[in-house]
Amino acid sequence: MDLDEYRAGLDAWLEHHAEALAPAHEGKGTLDEQLAQIEKVKRLAFDAGWMRHGWPERVGGLGGSTLLRAYLQEAVTARDLVEPGLFSMQEVLAPTMIDFASPELGAIMVPRLLRGDETWCQGFSEPGTGSNLASLACRAVRDGDTWRVTGQKVWTSLAQYAERCVLLTRTGTVESAHRGITGLFVDMDSPGITVRPIEAVHGSEEFSEVFFDDVVVPAERMLGAEGQGWSVAMDLLPYERSTALWQRAAFLHRRLQQLLELAPADSLDPVRLGEVTQTLYAFRARSRATQHRMADGGTLGPETSIDKVLLATTEQAVFDLFADALAAELTTGDDPASSQWRAEFLYSRAASIYGGSSEIQRNIIARRLLDLGSDR
Ligand SMILES: Cc1cc2nc3c(=O)[nH]c(=O)nc-3n(C[C@H](O)[C@H](O)[C@H](O)COP(=O)(O)OP(=O)(O)OC[C@H]3O[C@@H](n4cnc5c(N)ncnc54)[C@H](O)[C@@H]3O)c2cc1C
Repeated sequence: MDLDEYRAGLDAWLEHHAEALAPAHEGKGTLDEQLAQIEKVKRLAFDAGWMRHGWPERVGGLGGSTLLRAYLQEAVTARDLVEPGLFSMQEVLAPTMIDFASPELGAIMVPRLLRGDETWCQGFSEPGTGSNLASLACRAVRDGDTWRVTGQKVWTSLAQYAERCVLLTRTGTVESAHRGITGLFVDMDSPGITVRPIEAVHGSEEFSEVFFDDVVVPAERMLGAEGQGWSVAMDLLPYERSTALWQRAAFLHRRLQQLLELAPADSLDPVRLGEVTQTLYAFRARSRATQHRMADGGTLGPETSIDKVLLATTEQAVFDLFADALAAELTTGDDPASSQWRAEFLYSRAASIYGGSSEIQRNIIARRLLDLGSDR
């Protein structure tokens, strides 16, 4: 199916099923409500085929261009059907599963994620390891046909809801740095896993600390080979920093439009509005080029750091503009719409941290794209 045909078919389906797809909650909703809504939208869209287009047939997809997936993200966001960051988790985690899990494991697991039957999380960051992933310490020791995992992860989004985790573990010596890391696909109901949710500044327990105490993981759950975990990370992070962001661009576009409708006359400085609009369209143009590069079979790598920096800059600029124009609503409004704007304003501060901080992305751009030398 080509993009025009998909777009027309999906738009008509969304229109026709608007009532069934509509959120049951008002405003942003609680995290429980957001996830229940995402599960519903994914299930209905998967069963009708729309959620399967753009994914390989060997993992339950219907094939076709990855642009179809991008349009689905845009369409559900433009209609306020889902919380965009949480909805796009499959764009972050599924491609790496497809690349690194055994074909049998990928064929069983990926459809569950696409259909919303399961939630997955990403266990990379640790208390002493965020930007410098090569220093991670959560240890896995081989024991016959299994790995035994002991250690801690932190900031693990949706861990308390997740059935599975894409986990990076230390299997070599500490000195082995990026060479001694192995990726595992872990069942979150395994004995020995404790999840402690953390409340973020916007009031939602979106991420958690996760403790592993001698957790047994079958060897066939390895992602790639032993010691190939750095490749897993380098495969996954560019997706997190680019393809998943097309939906974020759609979300920011919608919010800027809503701000223009809401803001009282003369409350927006036209020069700043022009600058923010320009930033948003630069981000969308960059993201569009990335979606097309992937659809044309190109690989994603360090250049996705540009997409990530542009996202963070745009997200904070859009919500800063809102804070200037509608300061009272943002700070004291207690209706669902004001609460949503407030939560999204606060969450926009995280845009320059999650998926790799803006400082680290600028280092990557300087070192790997501009060849400006080491940051040390
Ligand atoms: C909302 C949210 C969701 C997240 N979800 C997940 C998740 O699901 N899974 C997961 O694994 N992680 C997740 N994270 C964690 C995220 O990946 C890390 O927070 C991020 O990579 C930064 O690591 P850190 O917090 O350890 O900060 P640090 O690495 O300690 O950095 C602290 C500060 O120092 C700066 N800094 C560090 N090194 C350098 C350097 N070499 N040059 C210049 N500046 C430097 C950083 O830019 C930052 O400002 C999430 C974070 C957020 C905010």
